[in-house]
Amino acid sequence: EKLTTNEIRQKYLDFFKEKEHYVMESFPLVPKDDKSLLLINAGMAPLKPYFTGVKVPPSKRVTSCQKCIRTGDIDNVGRTKRHATFFEMLGNFSFGDYFKEEIIPWAWEFVTEVLKIDKSKLYATVYFEDDEAFEIWKNKTDINPDRIFRLGKEDNFWEIGVGPCGPCSEIHYYKGTDEIKTTDDFIAASDRDEMTEFWNLVFTQFDKDEEGNYNLLANPNIDTGMGLERMATIMQGVDSIFEIDVLKNIIDKVTEVTGKAYGKNKAEDVSIRIIADHAKSIAFLIGDGVLPSNEGRGYVLRRLLRRAARHGRVLGHKKLFLNQIISAVMESYGKAYPDLLERREYIEKIVDLEEKKFHETLDAGMEMLLGFVEETEGDTFSGEHAFKLYDTYGFPLELTEEIIAEKGMKIDLEAFRKEMNDQRQRARAARGESSYMGSENSGIDVLEEAVSTTFTGYSSLSDDAEI
Ligand code: ATP
Ligand code: MG
Ligand code: MG
Ligand code: MG
Repeated sequence: EKLTTNEIRQKYLDFFKEKEHYVMESFPLVPKDDKSLLLINAGMAPLKPYFTGVKVPPSKRVTSCQKCIRTGDIDNVGRTKRHATFFEMLGNFSFGDYFKEEIIPWAWEFVTEVLKIDKSKLYATVYFEDDEAFEIWKNKTDINPDRIFRLGKEDNFWEIGVGPCGPCSEIHYYKGTDEIKTTDDFIAASDRDEMTEFWNLVFTQFDKDEEGNYNLLANPNIDTGMGLERMATIMQGVDSIFEIDVLKNIIDKVTEVTGKAYGKNKAEDVSIRIIADHAKSIAFLIGDGVLPSNEGRGYVLRRLLRRAARHGRVLGHKKLFLNQIISAVMESYGKAYPDLLERREYIEKIVDLEEKKFHETLDAGMEMLLGFVEETEGDTFSGEHAFKLYDTYGFPLELTEEIIAEKGMKIDLEAFRKEMNDQRQRARAARGESSYMGSENSGIDVLEEAVSTTFTGYSSLSDDAEI
């Protein structure tokens, strides 16, 4: 059955509501009282206070569809079939209530009975030491046990530093034709982007202490996350998330505006997908109160917007155009997110201002950049030059990186960071603060922290990139 994205969202929430879950609305993308996180990147992220016991949840069982942004996936976007910077994560959560015994059969029930996905397309993974989960899959569902694979920590164990953590079990959809017999076959199919992970069931059963011991939690939790776009890709029988109903409409708009056909040229397709994807993130970020800036979240927004604008240029389109794409985003998402529609005018105003600003500096910046490239001997682009572009023309580092990479070069990142730090010290000195003892609650400290979080994210990009 071909279900729309909106129908899948509804079916999921209804399914868990019937299983006595309290339905929560999506939280905004900007985390509240959580300095460890720049933007909400999973359904559980805004629910952390319930998991840690700081707050009492409205119910021990909660379900939601959460807006998420993962900038760490930015290099994957447009290149894999399954990554977006903005996506919606369906989830159900147990705060010390039900556990593996319940969630594994429920997940299977939802996928095979409610959505009626063909069992011959499905695979499950468990953490290699988690015999309990393996046995539940084997005994409490009718999955063929040969289709359950055991994977290591990297894929099937969730933890961040110390604190609650645990193994997970994931459900995958296979659209390839090669037979999948071994774990190696499974991994190879994932690498070919033919095996799509769509649902992660996390069993938070340990509390990791400072010494690295995993102590069993008295009341273990459940945290699951299913990518709505990935499920829509499966239900609508299309090849990638960019072809589902809500995204197709945006892709069509990009091709209409730029006059480029989709599916004709690989590099152009990537640009088209990047624009469509980033337009969603831009609209939702501004809608949730983020403004373009050179720090923290504002920098994420600026970077996405400038990147989308530049890919317009890559496609040969020189005029302002982002708001036309934003209008397609409104069409796709206005019904599910009436707030977004309400803020439409405001969003368009910000997009317009920022895009204009970028256009004004882009030509001059490009000229400078190309001049620098000419001066460069070897394949390392100077960090000082990258900083100059950032400082003078507002070129996000990653934009310069991308253009430089197209020329087969890379940036001296260490030198760039040094310049960046020096500038910060100067700014601090100018404000009359000591570098290490800024007053704890000043907004600037929060922002600096945020931007350092951003940069770690970016520097670990290569680890995140999967294909
Ligand atoms: P992948 O291995 O494909 O990058 P992940 O393991 O990083 O996914 P999880 O952190 O387990 O993803 O998140 C739970 C679910 O959210 C995933 O199973 C997937 O359906 C969805 N998801 C994760 N990242 C993205 C993304 N960038 N775009 C769209 N959906 C995503
Ligand atoms: Mg990932
Ligand atoms: Mg994964
Ligand atoms: Mg996962």
